[in-house]
Amino acid sequence: MSRYPASVIQVIKHFSKLPGIGEKSAERLAMHLLRMPQKEVESLARSIVDMKQKVQLCSLCFGLSDQSVCHICANPARDPRVLCVVEQPADMVCIEKTNAFYGLYHVLHGVLSPMEGVGPENIRFKELIGRIESGEVKEVVIATGTSVEGDTTAVFLAEKLSGFGIIVTRIASGVPVGGDLKYVDPLTLKRAMETRHAI
Ligand SMILES: [Zn+2]
Repeated sequence: MSRYPASVIQVIKHFSKLPGIGEKSAERLAMHLLRMPQKEVESLARSIVDMKQKVQLCSLCFGLSDQSVCHICANPARDPRVLCVVEQPADMVCIEKTNAFYGLYHVLHGVLSPMEGVGPENIRFKELIGRIESGEVKEVVIATGTSVEGDTTAVFLAEKLSGFGIIVTRIASGVPVGGDLKYVDPLTLKRAMETRHAI
């Protein structure tokens, strides 16, 4: 790598810090950028900075948004009585792709993990309770992953929500145990959403 000019080495170093990109791939990407038209490279660089500046968490569901309230929460056609609880913003996108859910979301930004010291105060649990206390929610669909932490979180939530007189369901069927929603195909996830059950 040291045979490259310093500016190239800099780019390779940045790329190799990204997930799933080793030094070889980083080198290939840098070479590719050098062959790309100047305008395209500038547009790519700008879009990264732009994304970083604009994207914030939706003040209602904590999903990713360009505005203080995301397009899903702002959509009057969505059913505010059903809330789907997910671990991460990417899980929300996975469920949206299935076109099987018409309610709103709540992103926890993590799962409970007693082993790693992650408790309810470290995820958006308080905010979830706040939304339920507002009275509009009639059903909470827990769509955390099927890992031990995902299940622990689902059981914890079901227990905490049991006193609110609402229906609490869990997507399950077809989602592999230990699986991450990211790796479940949309059709399986659609079925899992449709066959959710009370917990
Ligand atoms: Zn939102």
